[in-house]
Amino acid sequence: MRCAVCGSERLSALGELTSGNRIGDQRFLRLAFPRTGIFRPRPSYDACFARACLDCGALIPFLGASARQQLNAEADSLSDVDSSY
Ligand SMILES: [Zn+2]
Repeated sequence: MRCAVCGSERLSALGELTSGNRIGDQRFLRLAFPRTGIFRPRPSYDACFARACLDCGALIPFLGASARQQLNAEADSLSDVDSSY
């Protein structure tokens, strides 16, 4: 596995990724997409894990197994968010 930013192969062990906002707060970073219907919630997937590049410091987040399975099942229905704001 290589760093997507600098190409280094020196990545840390897999760590747990949390928001770090408060002690005991276990909310993970979340990847969210636009709603797929008016009454449907936004599809979102928690990134529970990460590796850090030991050379440039880039953080590479990963979805947990259940979030990855859910994303695979729903991937064809997802669309890009509006990135103009
Ligand atoms: Zn790097």
